[in-house]
Amino acid sequence: MTDSPSSLKTVSIVSLGCSKNLVDSELILGSLKKAGYETSSESDADLIIVNTCGFISEAKKESINTIIELLQYKRQGSCRKLIVTGCLVERYADELKRQLPEVDAFWGTGDLLKIGEIIGKNEIKKIHKSAPGTLYDPDSPRVLTTLPHTAYVKVSEGCSRTCSFCIIPKLRGIMKSRTVESIIGEVRILANLGVKEINLIAQDMTSYGRDIGTNLETLLRGLVNVDGIRWIRLLYCYPWGFTDSLVKIIREEDKILNYIDMPLQHINDRILKLMDRGTTSIRIINIINKLRNEIPELTLRTTFIAGFPSETEEEFKELLDFVEEAQFERAGAFKYSQEEGTKAGDMSHQIPDEVKEERYERLLEVQSEVSLNKNRALIGTVHEGFIEGRENGNYIARIPSQAPEVDGVTYIKRNKKLKVGDLVKVSITDADIYDLFGEVVS
Ligand code: SF4
Repeated sequence: MTDSPSSLKTVSIVSLGCSKNLVDSELILGSLKKAGYETSSESDADLIIVNTCGFISEAKKESINTIIELLQYKRQGSCRKLIVTGCLVERYADELKRQLPEVDAFWGTGDLLKIGEIIGKNEIKKIHKSAPGTLYDPDSPRVLTTLPHTAYVKVSEGCSRTCSFCIIPKLRGIMKSRTVESIIGEVRILANLGVKEINLIAQDMTSYGRDIGTNLETLLRGLVNVDGIRWIRLLYCYPWGFTDSLVKIIREEDKILNYIDMPLQHINDRILKLMDRGTTSIRIINIINKLRNEIPELTLRTTFIAGFPSETEEEFKELLDFVEEAQFERAGAFKYSQEEGTKAGDMSHQIPDEVKEERYERLLEVQSEVSLNKNRALIGTVHEGFIEGRENGNYIARIPSQAPEVDGVTYIKRNKKLKVGDLVKVSITDADIYDLFGEVVS
């Protein structure tokens, strides 16, 4: 690499994939800022970083297309270094190096706290490899990229489960939890910066702490005492580990939202077994009933896979019936993606793409009916909400049952001057499949 260490001073990062990758991007920016970089737009940046996703084929395509698109800035000369990081590198470093020679360096998911120092000293190798996954502490430099009142907090890295369709444990390593003290320390700093909503994230939230002799409930007992935090949201829970005491603290502590994101993937026992989910339809239904019975006005979000290898029409129909019966407030879906390096990727009876597509559409259709009815049932109710922006003369807000990025929003008539981060009381006046409409009542 020809450029001297001090000559590069501005950086722009494109963060793809999940919220855990977004936290990594914020840590990369923090590390570069510490090394003297300033953030700037892609078109002005000396250094561009593409933090990629390598989870499933659609995400891989998006990552490659984004890299190719941003390489134009190198050809134009505004960008002098383009570095690719993240899960796609963790999976395909050598192929990427061969196929994308214009990229200056490739860096996986590990060691991200060191990236600024190594780039700053111009010591970065073409492929920087290390153990996968990056944990961090309160004093790790981080540049928040979310709106000022909300932030993600990664409580653990990696996953120790063996779901047969999933490549993540190979990209992020086995589960490693941060200490309760480290997480509470970080949330205190975020609260002092004005953050009000903490979105707790992991690959497997309900297993938090199992590897270090603690648990999610203990963490939550500490987090609810952090002054200034108003909302604590649980994302990426596994259908396991909802002890009576964990459910009790979610129910009793106002700061902990009655919102649970719990990807289920399927409900048919033969498919759950092939997926190696380590659970059964009965146990899933028991957990849902327990959560519904014990947590009032619960918002339950989940995700399903359509078209898993050998899935029959009857088994898929069973899933559709379950979605209709279970009445999830939020449910997303993926078409099964055959991934090399996963057990399911080598399974026979792969489902044809057109059948996957057709099942995916049917699943979304059933859920859209459920979502519409659930949203309409909120008309006339009042909720607190954070103002997040404006669109077509309306304000955009999120209420507790709306997680950032993945759920709908609430459009509010502009009947008074408001700014991003304001907390208001919203009366819901109308609803559609994904979004709500309302007006400020105080
Ligand atoms: S719980 Fe399963 S699907 Fe989720 S990250 Fe772990 S292995 Fe993948």
